[in-house]
Amino acid sequence: MKYLLEITANLTHIVEMTPEDGVDDPNMPYFFRLKCENCDIVSKEQCVYPSEVVYHKRKRVNHVIKCKGCKRVGTVKLVPGSESVFTAAAAAGGIYMPLMMFECEGLVPQQYAFNGGWKLTTDTGEDIMVNLVNGYFAGSEDEYGDNQPVVANVRGRFTPQ
Ligand SMILES: [Zn+2]
Repeated sequence: MKYLLEITANLTHIVEMTPEDGVDDPNMPYFFRLKCENCDIVSKEQCVYPSEVVYHKRKRVNHVIKCKGCKRVGTVKLVPGSESVFTAAAAAGGIYMPLMMFECEGLVPQQYAFNGGWKLTTDTGEDIMVNLVNGYFAGSEDEYGDNQPVVANVRGRFTPQ
C-alpha cells in the first residue's frame, strides 16, 4: 500500500522550504511511527533514510520492523519521484505539498515529525539551514529586523494512494 507524505506550514518572509539538499535528498531522515495492520499496535518513533538499504525476503527496502504485539514483520520503502518544493504560495493557501512516497507492507505510517535538516530560502534570496524538530523556527530579530523569517504550524499527513 502506498501513502504519500504531504506537508504544510505557515511561512513568513520565506519563499521555499525543502530538505537540506533538495526535495530528493537521499540523506534526509524521516521520523514517523508505524501502525501494524494486523493488530493496530503503534511503534515507537522510527527514523528512515532513503539511502538506507535493508533486504527482507530478497526484496530491497529501506526499513524492516517487527511488531511488538503480533510479531509480524512489516517493511517500508521510500519511493522518490513525487515530491515538490514547498513554496510560500502553498503556505498562503494552506495547501499540502508532497514530500515523499512511502510504500508499506503490513504497516500504516503516521505521526510524521519534522526532524532533520531543512533549507529555508528567504525572500531576499538567502538560504538558511535549520532543524524543525520543535515544529518552529524564527530568525533572530536583531539580524533580520522587520524581515524576520518564520516557520510555524508545521503539519504532515500520510494520504493513502
Ligand atoms: Zn501487530
